[in-house]
Amino acid sequence: MPRQIDKASPMQDILILGAGPAGLTLALSLHQAGIPCRVYEQAPEIKAVGVGVNLLPHAVAELAKLGLLEALRKVAVTTDEAQFFNRYGQLIHAEKLGQGAGYPAPQLSIHRADLQDVLLAATRARLGPDAVHLGHRVTAVETQGTEAVVHFADGKPSARGSAAIAADGVHSTVRKQFHPHETGFHYTGYNMWRGVTAWKPFLTGATMTRAGWLADGKMVIYPIRNNIDAEGRQLINWVAEVEWPNPIDRDWNRRGKLEDFLPFFADWHFPWLDVPAMMQAAEVVLEFPMVDQDPLPWWTQGLVTLMGDAAHPMVPRGSNGAGQSILDAVALTKAFVSGGPVAGVLASYEAERRPATSAVVLQNRKAPPDALLGEVYKRTGNKPFGRIEDVISREELLAITNGYKQVAGYTLEDVARRAAG
Ligand SMILES: Cc1cc2nc3c(=O)[nH]c(=O)nc-3n(C[C@H](O)[C@H](O)[C@H](O)COP(=O)(O)OP(=O)(O)OC[C@H]3O[C@@H](n4cnc5c(N)ncnc54)[C@H](O)[C@@H]3O)c2cc1C
Repeated sequence: MPRQIDKASPMQDILILGAGPAGLTLALSLHQAGIPCRVYEQAPEIKAVGVGVNLLPHAVAELAKLGLLEALRKVAVTTDEAQFFNRYGQLIHAEKLGQGAGYPAPQLSIHRADLQDVLLAATRARLGPDAVHLGHRVTAVETQGTEAVVHFADGKPSARGSAAIAADGVHSTVRKQFHPHETGFHYTGYNMWRGVTAWKPFLTGATMTRAGWLADGKMVIYPIRNNIDAEGRQLINWVAEVEWPNPIDRDWNRRGKLEDFLPFFADWHFPWLDVPAMMQAAEVVLEFPMVDQDPLPWWTQGLVTLMGDAAHPMVPRGSNGAGQSILDAVALTKAFVSGGPVAGVLASYEAERRPATSAVVLQNRKAPPDALLGEVYKRTGNKPFGRIEDVISREELLAITNGYKQVAGYTLEDVARRAAG
């Protein structure tokens, strides 16, 4: 008999593999629904790694339902507008974001470490101090009858549960086990250098800016922490993207060198920000290739499935990596709550989320919101313009940003439905 999700016969724990934003959100969401779970994480401790992450209103609406909004707001910047510029600092497009744009939830720009802190603290407080098992590196998964069995490195005993959910990120062991012949990652031809710098607030103090274009050097710059010192400075997150023929390895902690990319931005002295000075003042520069992977034909085998970056790594051009992982967690929980045999639960989760996230992966490749920078770059031949209206109409600009919102599931209607649901 297949195992049923039935409140009368308590099920075994669901095993969550990986304690990143995906795994921890799933733990909190399942717990809120009264479904027992445990998390296994390879790292011996959760360290403050990475730099900035954006959470769009669809994801924030879900985190708010988990009771995390106030804790997140305290450590994040509530982003209020997007501004797009060419490499000369000329404004191409501006639009309101979050609640100022009519969403029921804000957009939050946050240090990945702060997001992890909020999720981990809530997981330990609600599920118990031992809910997250650190130092457990998954080596393989299998289904034995009605149980998912997870094996670990270093002689640690295997774990058994009613299902195993692989939230083990871009180097997912489970994805490799399921799809051993998958052909590596898809390189866009661009490298990213990422850093954070203590700097005075610029524009509204909560503006997400994108400038330039890939072939000539592009930047994404936004604040992620407020009032970090007595002078009221913010922590500014920045990403420089430059054409780079040879892809480097995907290592979130790999150090980059300023001299590799600074020359592309040496004359970016905008009235609102001196970009090269800000980059030079960064304590650490990290580098990561701009890559994704082709959408998979299936995620689920037996009682094991994939979620988050393990399922759908995407190029970070639509602020949707963490957000789509959070939506996966919510969809999985809803599928478990609906009940039925576990294999059917996982199948219905995959049927909802695999097509949705595959579309986002492909849209990030061909038409993310910053595609409007590319359009202006093309039409102006990368020269300064007189009036932006003579280059591109507001309707065309909005068609690009709104088209992306539809694919990624965060139109005003989408988010209103989530907030109410
Ligand atoms: C160290 C790090 C830094 C990052 N920095 C940034 C950033 O600066 N900006 C940004 O936009 N995105 C960053 N990301 C990616 C971002 O967190 C994800 O795109 C998004 O939040 C989806 O999260 P996820 O939980 O699916 O994957 P991840 O955040 O990658 O989390 C996966 C988790 O699984 C664990 N894991 C991996 N393999 C195993 C295994 N075999 N057994 C057990 N556990 C395993 C990892 O240690 C990690 O904790 C970073 C990810 C990592 C791991």
